[in-house]
Amino acid sequence: METPSPNTVADIFGSLVFDDSSMKERLPGDIYLSLQNTRRLGLPLEPEAANVVANAMKDWAVGKGATHYTHWFQPMTNVTAEKHEALISRIEEDKVIMEFSGRELVKGEPDASSLPSGGMRSTFEARGYTAWDPTSFAFIKDGTLCIPTAFCSYGGQSLDKKTPLLRSMETINTQALRILRLFGNTTATHVDATVGAEQEYFLIDSGLCNERKDLRFTGRTLYGAHPPKNQDTAAHYFGAIRPRAAAFMGELDTELWKLGIAAKTEHNETAPSQYELAPIYNNANLAADHNQLTMEFMRKVAERHGLTCLLHEKPFAGLNGSGKHTNWSLATDDGQNLLEPGESPAENAQFLLFLCAVIKGVDDYSPLLRIAVANAGNDHRLGGDEAPPAVISIYLGDELTEVLRSIETGSAPEAQKSAYLEIGVSTLPKLPKDTTDRNRTSPLAFTGNKFEFRMTGSSDSIACVNYMMNAIVSDTLRGFADELEQAGDFRRSLQELIKKTIVAHKRILFNGNNYAEDWMVEADRRGLPNYPSAVDALPRFPDKENIRLLERHKILSEEELRFRLDILLDNYSQTISVEAQTMLDMGRQEILPAALAFSGAVSEGIQSKKSTGLALNLTYDNDLLVNLCAETGRLYAALNQLEQALAKASAISDTLGQAKAWRESVVPAMEEARAPADRLEAMVGKEYWPFPTYADLLFSV
Ligand code: ADP
Ligand code: MG
Repeated sequence: METPSPNTVADIFGSLVFDDSSMKERLPGDIYLSLQNTRRLGLPLEPEAANVVANAMKDWAVGKGATHYTHWFQPMTNVTAEKHEALISRIEEDKVIMEFSGRELVKGEPDASSLPSGGMRSTFEARGYTAWDPTSFAFIKDGTLCIPTAFCSYGGQSLDKKTPLLRSMETINTQALRILRLFGNTTATHVDATVGAEQEYFLIDSGLCNERKDLRFTGRTLYGAHPPKNQDTAAHYFGAIRPRAAAFMGELDTELWKLGIAAKTEHNETAPSQYELAPIYNNANLAADHNQLTMEFMRKVAERHGLTCLLHEKPFAGLNGSGKHTNWSLATDDGQNLLEPGESPAENAQFLLFLCAVIKGVDDYSPLLRIAVANAGNDHRLGGDEAPPAVISIYLGDELTEVLRSIETGSAPEAQKSAYLEIGVSTLPKLPKDTTDRNRTSPLAFTGNKFEFRMTGSSDSIACVNYMMNAIVSDTLRGFADELEQAGDFRRSLQELIKKTIVAHKRILFNGNNYAEDWMVEADRRGLPNYPSAVDALPRFPDKENIRLLERHKILSEEELRFRLDILLDNYSQTISVEAQTMLDMGRQEILPAALAFSGAVSEGIQSKKSTGLALNLTYDNDLLVNLCAETGRLYAALNQLEQALAKASAISDTLGQAKAWRESVVPAMEEARAPADRLEAMVGKEYWPFPTYADLLFSV
């Protein structure tokens, strides 16, 4: 596929999406309006209207060559699911017509009984159903009309990532509007969370990837000595993009543009063969759908170029892993970014209140954000010197911190010599949007007019992180609105509320280096929670305050939350289990035999040299043989240990107990096994080594 010329980009953009302009063009005016009301206000769509919409959608899709439709949904697996149905109905014995009804559009029944449900659906009623999400757009993928849907059990419990996100969009809208009304805004009718997700990934030659069972089965390398050249030279970061990667990116952009995904920024990342793609932001629901599609197309397009796209959080030990910075803000339907400091005192007062809502929300509920990014892959990243630590804090930058200090202490801010900052009266000193030191070490950084959350793992759906963000900020806004709606003197109460919030929650603010050891000590002193691994964080999910919060805003019921926890713990255990088994397999079937073959050759060499009867210096030969045998013995013993740890963990029946066993005994046993294997790699002759090395993989594209 060719990269399109600049003037065709606008034409192809969204060409495979049944978007607003297609709707307007193809629907009768009244139907278009009722669909708008469904999309924006969540009003139900009359069955007749649904029939008209379905028919127009079908005609549009058939015109673009579609023959099938599917309810496209996002189960608890990080990949999307679909079950295709042909768009046909039989009219006579030997005749069919292309048909798609409102009923088929609105509701589906995939027999998806083997998708994870954490026991939510008992097997006798295992069928879940899918329900059309009219707030996202239908699109065509591989000749199939895809209808974005939510996936629920028959009892209505959510079984997917989208449903809680949609619910959280409703609550953030309700609570933010209450605040806007207090500030006299009567024009905004809707507030959305806006999200832009920067996706990191690796591109590796497929031929080489296929030679490694670890990459094939687990998406990351389980063995591998450091290459002589690595990321220390920083030659790759923002370097010129190599032709093979550039061809991939060009084609990926085109595919994404057709799907209405505004892929914008692409560059090399820190590690060799690592890249990033960032789209223009969207509302959180569309952003989550788009990110799923982006990951799917990254994998697909890479294949067409003989490449494998690795989305794992840590494909290579010792090199930077991949994350997915999620930028989050709030926007009104009349175009106001609620985290943009304004020009007037009133705008600034409103900005400060929304800012404080984030600060208080994150301080009150930081474990929920930690839980939202908890998975086995991310455990390798968080707390390494490349990704934020597992302790959550907020970076505001010096200027904004100074503003808050001024409000707190009632003293003049540095930049504004006249008086202290009086809410609703003074204008904020100008905040530079691009502070030069962005502080890349912070888990949650205010970057001028949005928050950038840096803990999300590269393979994860962004839905969870965003519904948590929406939930915690909604809750604070709700408390603020309750208080301010009762206030006699609005401006005075506002000043007090903001001041009170800063005093109570400033412990979550930290502008320093989050990688530094003394920050961990300081964070502990401040009482900020620290959950180093997923297995430490996840059991906090059903804490009383978390259940109360998510139930209060109807985002998750306690039952839904507990089942989700089960699935997350189960996913963790399964991930480590597959990794451990792959490690055993590679260690025994490939590495030990290679080491034996090589040490055999060394030993034969020694024998034959000795048989010459000459006084040869065999120090190297002998040392090499001794070291080879020592490391081989260590690897053999470590693999036996690993096998035992694996058997023990597998035998544990309770979900949390099992996850803990994988974390506490299997993960360390894997590290024990890796060390001698990596030392062997450095000793064994290249032609004996059974699979491509880091150097082969990382410098292949
Ligand atoms: P960076 O320097 O971090 O790359 P960018 O300005 O390029 O910053 O933005 C990174 C991401 O943040 C992009 O996906 C962008 O669309 C998104 N973004 C920008 N403004 C907002 C906003 N108001 N809400 C949500 N995301 C935003
Ligand atoms: Mg960024």
